[in-house]
Amino acid sequence: METITNHLPTAELQALDAAHHLHPFSHQGELAEKGARIITRATGVTLTDSEGCEILDAMAGLWCVNVGYGRDEIADVAARQIRELPYYNTFFQTSHVPVIALSAKLAELAPGDLNHVFYAGSGSEANDTNMRMVRVYWAQKGKPDKKIIISRNNAYHGSTMAGASLGGMTPMHEQGGLPIPDVHHIPQPNWYAEGGDTTPEEFGLQRAQELEKAILALGEDKVAAFIAEPVQGAGGVIIPPSTYWPEIQRICDKYEILLIADEVICGFGRTGNWFGSETMGIKPHIMSIAKGLSSGYAPIGGSIVCDEVAEVIAGCEFNHGYTYSGHPVAAAIALENLRILEEENIVDRVRNDTGPYLQKKWKALADHPLVADACIVGMMGAIALSPNKAERAPFDGDSGAVGLICREHCFANNLIMRHVGDRMIISPPLVITKDEIDTLIERATRALDLTLEQIKKQGLF
Ligand code: PMP
Repeated sequence: METITNHLPTAELQALDAAHHLHPFSHQGELAEKGARIITRATGVTLTDSEGCEILDAMAGLWCVNVGYGRDEIADVAARQIRELPYYNTFFQTSHVPVIALSAKLAELAPGDLNHVFYAGSGSEANDTNMRMVRVYWAQKGKPDKKIIISRNNAYHGSTMAGASLGGMTPMHEQGGLPIPDVHHIPQPNWYAEGGDTTPEEFGLQRAQELEKAILALGEDKVAAFIAEPVQGAGGVIIPPSTYWPEIQRICDKYEILLIADEVICGFGRTGNWFGSETMGIKPHIMSIAKGLSSGYAPIGGSIVCDEVAEVIAGCEFNHGYTYSGHPVAAAIALENLRILEEENIVDRVRNDTGPYLQKKWKALADHPLVADACIVGMMGAIALSPNKAERAPFDGDSGAVGLICREHCFANNLIMRHVGDRMIISPPLVITKDEIDTLIERATRALDLTLEQIKKQGLF
């Protein structure tokens, strides 16, 4: 099959891209100047660019390609479904086989009585659904004033108005007048950056108790739900201290606050269980899902809802839905992706085999002079770069400049690792082999060495 890339050299593709394509989360002007790297193909954990360079993708795209790239089985299922039923909606008393099968499968995989799925096209849309659904739930129960959703600083819940409002990213709030009303943020359980002289355990408890303080200050009768990622992803892979989640659970139970676990990154094996809630011992009423649900092969997200919430919502017409809610092709792809995850024991490998192998090597990066902390759960990890390891000190200005330098060295050395400030993060495809893990660590170490060399010259270290 002929594609545009067969015809055009890289520079022309870059020029067209700069002229007509607005990139998400990018400074368009700077990118246009530099030219985007054009990715043309991918298999397993490896991307190929238009110059033929092979790059190890230690981010699984955007934390999503859990089963790896190049799965013919998924391509075949997609083609078959497009021929059979490419589209139909489920709004007006109709349903279809892929969405029925996927819903039953998700009910089987999800813990406890999370047995009902409302579909969306993405994680952001799933959280929009959640925001409306919890308010409808309380209104149905005769408590329409329970509207406020409590979230956390430095959380990420998406880019739509509701998603970005629920998220706690200041640079996002600064654009477009966010957050929208009735969203309240409490401090995050980031011991490395904010824990000071406390132990992680003390700090975890303190930060969880911020939720109780907020509920008491806002009024229990005004608070609908608390939303959080089991492990913060885009905020820099922040793994909460062990004391954090049990205390949050206690508080939600005590005050009858719905607990929404945003599993968009943590779901589908990332933390060594099917869901991050299982790894962290959380019992949510609603889970947001996307990304690993289809391993990124199709845009699909959703909310998995517990029996009681589903029952209450069923008592009214929920005036909400997306054209692509439960899209048949996306649903068929997701189902095939779940079959692969199950039949190849991928979640089990993350838990017991390749996961521990990666964890050991990743944690050893803490011996590097530039690394003050290395943390990892399942296959999501972070290293914190610091000029003074003993004090967990940030670099001057805390601007992320050093992280960016490191990211550029990774990129130049054919490794995709992302930086969040001065934290370097990974979330590779869950099918990464031990040999590929060795390559990841070698390239990461080389990028750290080159970064150290460069910042020494610049007088930053
Ligand atoms: N929630 C979390 C925890 C996420 O990490 C993301 C995306 N990174 C989203 C929601 C939003 O998902 P999407 O980009 O599919 O809208």
